Amino acid sequence: MEKKSVARKPHCLVIAFPSQSHINPMLQFSKLLEHHGVKITLVTTRSYYHNLQKVPPSIAVETISDGFDKGGISEAESFKAYTDTFWQVGPQTFAELIEKLGKIGDYVDCVIYDSFFPWALDVAKRFGIVGVAYLTQNMSVNSIYYHAHLGKLQVPLKESEISLPALPKLQPEDMPSFFSTYIEDPFVLDFVVDQFSNIDKADWILCNTFYELDEEVANWTIGIWPNFRNIGPNIPSMFLDKQYEDDQDYSVTQFKSEDCIQWLNDKPEGSVVYVSFGSLAMLNEKQMEELAYGLKECSSYFLWVVRASEQIKLPKDFEKESDKGLVVTWCSQLRVLAHKAIGCFVTHCGWNSTLETMCLGVPIIAIPWWSDQPINAKLMTDVWKIGIRAPIGETKFVQRETIKYCIRRMLESEEGKMMKNNSIQLKTLALKAISKGGSSYENIIEFTNNLFSF
Ligand code: UDP
Repeated sequence: MEKKSVARKPHCLVIAFPSQSHINPMLQFSKLLEHHGVKITLVTTRSYYHNLQKVPPSIAVETISDGFDKGGISEAESFKAYTDTFWQVGPQTFAELIEKLGKIGDYVDCVIYDSFFPWALDVAKRFGIVGVAYLTQNMSVNSIYYHAHLGKLQVPLKESEISLPALPKLQPEDMPSFFSTYIEDPFVLDFVVDQFSNIDKADWILCNTFYELDEEVANWTIGIWPNFRNIGPNIPSMFLDKQYEDDQDYSVTQFKSEDCIQWLNDKPEGSVVYVSFGSLAMLNEKQMEELAYGLKECSSYFLWVVRASEQIKLPKDFEKESDKGLVVTWCSQLRVLAHKAIGCFVTHCGWNSTLETMCLGVPIIAIPWWSDQPINAKLMTDVWKIGIRAPIGETKFVQRETIKYCIRRMLESEEGKMMKNNSIQLKTLALKAISKGGSSYENIIEFTNNLFSF
């Protein structure tokens, strides 16, 4: 990629919510912009700063305060207490940062903010700076929250079937979990809906997905916001287009990866079930037990990520390492999904995991847990047809027999082969979208050209 030569590169501040699944895609996007000649400063909280060692040296890092400079969210009494304080202290320290950079001649031209931080747009506008919303979740979820913001969705949900423009018909269990927990805890739904409180003032609205994945939703969205663009999937280049050799797995994480590639190396192609529930999910003990015995009793190999804090929930007699299975506390998921031994992915359906599995052509067994995961599961199973959803039933957990059945169905049936083929087709579409001339590629070029025109 040829870098544009200008006297001064346009300078973007990129600010993400301090969690892995928000920082990673925004960091990936930052690296792309950098390849197109844009200067990037990544902004994080003082407490999250130590997780950013893997940021490439060409990207500057600055910090702001969330009001909990030592421990971040773990110091706060609740998520609400955390964001209440953050929303007071964050905008002030973010504005101070922009001023500080201006004073040393490092002027900020553009703020690319995680849509979870609507206040960052207000700060950008106060300084007369271009404000760009970056949506880390998929457009169907964003559309649902946007409708809730407009008051077009009754909360708590009353209907047994939800119809929204450009989306498949949704049952209440397909909706983001915050709708069903609204009565006990209205705060989280209010929080995610608030992303859209000022979005109409954003100069651009970018989303980490690609047009071909969800054409109808993308067309609907651009009808609402003409400045909306898909710019994804933002995953490291070496796992998709292989354009930038230096673009390895730069996952920003508080967890230490264990090497499991060697273990995978001697397993036959497509024979291993990879199991992970992301960086936050906490399964209950019963679910862990059923999963453990389901995996142990099925005939396939398995690689299971159980975070250190969750390992206590494993059954006492469960072997963490055998020829049949391996339990690790964390791994490089992208490297694992890219390994030919992987046959399918038992996933909680976080949006990053969803994009990653798609980009690497791996079909899934969905066990969504909360947040946007139920709708991601619905799309993967019913719309894109790259997987099956493990039924929960009356027990409220997925039973071991169900797990064994789903794995067999996925790895040993014609239907499983069809889902594998579908996921390879999506991989091809994703690759096309981010390659020269592709939809996301061209949107990024349009966006950077606009930055250079200031
Ligand atoms: N991940 C990883 N190693 C693991 C498990 C997860 O690198 O052992 C990464 C995964 O690649 C993804 C992120 O953690 O990028 C999880 O994000 P997602 O949106 O899927 O779920 P969340 O953690 O927000 O629930």
